[in-house]
Amino acid sequence: MTATRVLVLNTGSSSVKYQLLDMTDRSRLAVGLVERIGEESGRIRHTLISGPQGRERIRETTGPVPDHRAALEAVAEELARDGLGLDSPELAAVGHRVVHGGKRFTEPTLIDTTVVNEIERLSPVAPLHNPANLIGIRTAQKLRPDLPHVAVFDTAFHSTIPEAAARYAIDVETADRHRVRRYGFHGTSHSYVSRAAAKLVGKDPAEANVIVLHLGNGASASAVRGGRCVETSMGLTPLEGLVMGTRSGDLDPAVVFHLMRVGGMTADEIDVLLNKRSGLVGLCGDNDMREIRRRVDEGDEAAKLAFDVYVHRLRKYIGAYYAVLGRVDVVAFTAGVGENSAPVRAAALEGLEGLGLAVDEHLNARPADGPRLISPPHLSVAVAVVPTDEELEIAAETYELVTGARRRR
Ligand code: AMP
Repeated sequence: MTATRVLVLNTGSSSVKYQLLDMTDRSRLAVGLVERIGEESGRIRHTLISGPQGRERIRETTGPVPDHRAALEAVAEELARDGLGLDSPELAAVGHRVVHGGKRFTEPTLIDTTVVNEIERLSPVAPLHNPANLIGIRTAQKLRPDLPHVAVFDTAFHSTIPEAAARYAIDVETADRHRVRRYGFHGTSHSYVSRAAAKLVGKDPAEANVIVLHLGNGASASAVRGGRCVETSMGLTPLEGLVMGTRSGDLDPAVVFHLMRVGGMTADEIDVLLNKRSGLVGLCGDNDMREIRRRVDEGDEAAKLAFDVYVHRLRKYIGAYYAVLGRVDVVAFTAGVGENSAPVRAAALEGLEGLGLAVDEHLNARPADGPRLISPPHLSVAVAVVPTDEELEIAAETYELVTGARRRR
C-alpha cells in the first residue's frame, strides 16, 4: 500500500491544531483542535470528513489535558477511533508548522537532532512559539519515531527578501550578534495565496507580481515578484507592520523607552501591552471586525477610529508595496478579515483608480467560498479574494519533500 496521507500539526502554547490529508486528491480526512492544555478543563473537537460531499461528523470531548504529550495522545486516539490511527501504513509523514526558522531554514526540512537543536537555538527570537512547536515535534516523534517528520517554517517564504528590505538601519555588529533583522511570518499563507492569485488571473506565478494582504487576527502584507517574496511587513517578530487584532504593528521605537522611563513600565509589561492590549482591541475594546463594523454602523466613535486606523495603515502598505514592485498584476485579500470583510477591502482601495486599483461594489459584496475577482474588468490591476489554506500548503510541502516530487503546484 502506498503511503499518501500527511498529518499536519500546529502546536501552540496551549493548543494543538491538526489535519489529516490525503495527498492523492489533496482532500481532508479529519481536522481537529485540542484547546486549553494544562488548564483545569481542556476541550477536544474532532471532525471526521467523509464521502465526495465532504460530510462532517463532529465529536467533542471535555476534560483535563494536562500537557502536550496528553494532547497528542488524544489526537492519536481520536484518529484511531475513525480508523485513521497514527499506526496506519497509509501515513507518509507528519508536517509540523514551525514559526521561526531564522536565516538557516529557507525550505521545508526533514527533522533530525541537529534541526531540533537549531529550532531550540532560535527560541529567544520566538519565545511564545518555537518552544511549543518543539514540544509538538518531540512528542509526535516519540509516537511515530519511524516516520519522516518535516518542519515547515513560517519565515521560509520570506527568506528571499533582499538585504535592503531585511536589514534594520542599526549598528550591524549589534544586529548580527543578536540576529536582529526582518524575517517575516505567515509565509505558508503568502506563498499559497500569491500562487493561487496569479493562477486566478491566468498568469504563471513565475511571471506575476502580487501584493498579498493576509488580514486575520494577526495581519501581514507581502510583495511577491515572480513567485519570490521581495518585501513583507512583519519583522524580527510578528509585531511589526499592519494594525492587528491585538498587536500594534508599526510604532516609533522610542515609545518603548518613553513608557519605561516616564510610564514606569517594565519590558515585560510593554511586551504584553503591544502584543495583547493594542491593535483593534487597544483602540476600541474589540478585535473582531464583525463587531467593530456593527458598532461603526451604530455610530460608535471608538470603533470608527479603530476601523480608520486599521484601514489607513493598510493603504500605506499597499502604496509602499506598489512602489516596491513597480508593476502589480494582482492584489489578493486573504484570512478572516481579508476573506470576509467587504468594508475593509472597499475602504483600503478607495480612490486608487489612478493606480489602476478599485473594487467593484457588487462583486465585493457578494459572499462566495472560493477564490474570486472583485475588481472591475477595465482596470490594470486585478483585485482578488483568495481563501488561504496553510494546512494544505504544509501538507503539500511535506509530501513533496518525502516523496522527492518536483515542485509543480
Ligand atoms: P483568522 O486569524 O484568519 O482566523 O481571522 C480571524 C478574524 O477574522 C476575526 O478576529 C475577525 O476579526 C475576522 N472575521 C472572521 N469572520 C469575519 C466576517 N464574516 N466578517 C468580518 N470579519 C471576520
